[in-house]
Amino acid sequence: MVRYIPKQSIVGFAQKTINRYTFKLPVSVDTICPHCKRKINYHIEWITQLNTSLNYTITHCPACQGQVRFIQIIEKSSPDETLLSGEIFIYPGAELRQPVKGSEEFLADGIDRTYLSTINAFNAQEWTATSVLCGRALEGVIKSILPPEETTKSLANQLGELPEHLELHKPILTLADAIRKGGHLETYFDLEKEPNEEISALMVDLLDYLIEYLFILPKRIEALHDKIENLSKPVPSPDSD
Ligand SMILES: [Zn+2]
Repeated sequence: MVRYIPKQSIVGFAQKTINRYTFKLPVSVDTICPHCKRKINYHIEWITQLNTSLNYTITHCPACQGQVRFIQIIEKSSPDETLLSGEIFIYPGAELRQPVKGSEEFLADGIDRTYLSTINAFNAQEWTATSVLCGRALEGVIKSILPPEETTKSLANQLGELPEHLELHKPILTLADAIRKGGHLETYFDLEKEPNEEISALMVDLLDYLIEYLFILPKRIEALHDKIENLSKPVPSPDSD
C-alpha cells in the first residue's frame, strides 16, 4: 500500500528542465520509515528518466537501510502546461495512525492542533510525548463542553458529567427530523420517486451515520473498556500453571 506524503513533510525541492518541461521535484522529505518506524529525512535522487505523467525512485532509510520507493504523480501546474509538479507517495506505506475524519473541521483550533500532534507523536513512537499531548487534547475536548467548576474533577468523573451537559440522544432525533422534513425522503425509499445522485448520496450518508452511531462506536467503546479494565489485572506469573 502506498502512503501519501503531505505537503508540509516536503522540506526541499529541485528544478530540472528537459526539452520544454520544467519539473519541480521533491528532494528532501521528512517522514516515518515504514521499516524501522523512525522519523527520517529522506534525500531523494530522481535517477530514472523523468516522465510527464509519473516518476519514481528507489532509496534507502539512512537508519535501517530498508528500501523504499517514492512515486510522484504529475499534475501540470502552469497554464501552458510546461511546469510539472505533483503529489508524492511512499511505498511501502507504514501503517500509520490517521486523525479521525472531520477532526480538522469540527474541533476548535487549539484542540485540533494538539490532537494532530498527538497522532504524530504516536506515529513517531514517542510514547511519553503521546501521553502528555493526549492528556492535553482530552482536557481540551472535555473543557469545551463542561462548565469551569466541573473541570477540576478526575478524568473519570468529568466524563461521567458529560451526559448532563450534552444531549446525547440529539443526533438520532435530528436524523428523524431530517427524514420527516427533507422532501419526503421516504417516498424515494419506497421507489415512488426516482432519486438522483444528490438524493442517493444523502440516503447513503444517513445509512452510514446510523450504522456508525448505533453499532460501530458503541462496540468499539465496549472493546476499549474491556482492554483498559484488563490493564489493571495482575499479569499471571510464568510458573503459575
Ligand atoms: Zn528505517
